[in-house]
This record gives sequence, structure tokens and C-alpha cells, in this order.
Amino acid sequence: MIHTPAHRPLLDAILAHYGFRPECLSIVPDVAAAGTAAGFPDNEPLRAAKVLVGGPEPVIWLREEFSDDLRDAYIEDTCRTLTGGWCWTIGIKLTEPATFVAHLLLHEIGHFLKYPHDSPESERAAEAWALEQSRNF
Ligand SMILES: [Zn+2]
Repeated sequence: MIHTPAHRPLLDAILAHYGFRPECLSIVPDVAAAGTAAGFPDNEPLRAAKVLVGGPEPVIWLREEFSDDLRDAYIEDTCRTLTGGWCWTIGIKLTEPATFVAHLLLHEIGHFLKYPHDSPESERAAEAWALEQSRNF
């Protein structure tokens, strides 16, 4: 089990690295529900993270808890969007809790800064960017 709030200091440091305030990130039990409540309907109950782009700073939600199964499903999905095993060769181990939540946040920051959700390529690009940026934390 990964409890995201336990990693709040790291997540805040990542936000600060890109010039964002801690208030940009909300850790919530249900990301889809938070997005829907904010006016962005979302019917994916297991969503790990979400970002609103287009404003002066990102509005990011991260899921509060991840079972091992949910973590592994997310990692499998992440790796599938990249060329085989690349996330391992870059030297980060996504199963490590701090690395896992840092990666989720970096992916959303990647969408905000460089790769808005406008194409399948933007998903792969945000993933690749997040993995590359992981080296900094
Ligand atoms: Zn994404």
C-alpha cells in the first residue's frame, strides 16, 4: 500500500522546483470525483492523477492511496506506452513508493508545461518527460 500524503514533502519540493505552490496539488481519495466536482466530468474511478491546464498554474489531483495491485497496473500501463522497459533502463524503480508518487506528479506537470492532452503522442511525451525528470529527485 502506498499512502501518498506520507510523501508530501517530496511532492512539495517537486512543485517548487518548477515554480509551483504547494496549493497546486490536492491529494484526494477519488481523483475522478474531485475532477467531476470541479466541473470536469470523469468516470474513471481508479484514476491515479489528473491536471487542469490552461491557467497560470496547474490544478493537480493525486490519489491518496494505492493498493499494490493498482500500483502495478499503473506501472504496467506506463511501461506499455514506452518502448520496452525503458523506465527501468533509466535507472528509476517505479515500484518504490516515493518514486511512484513523484512520477505521477511529474507526469501531470509534464502535461501542464509541455504536453497538453491533445493527442496520444502527448501521453507518451508526458511519460517520457516525467521519467527523464525523475533523475532530479
Ligand atoms: Zn497523462
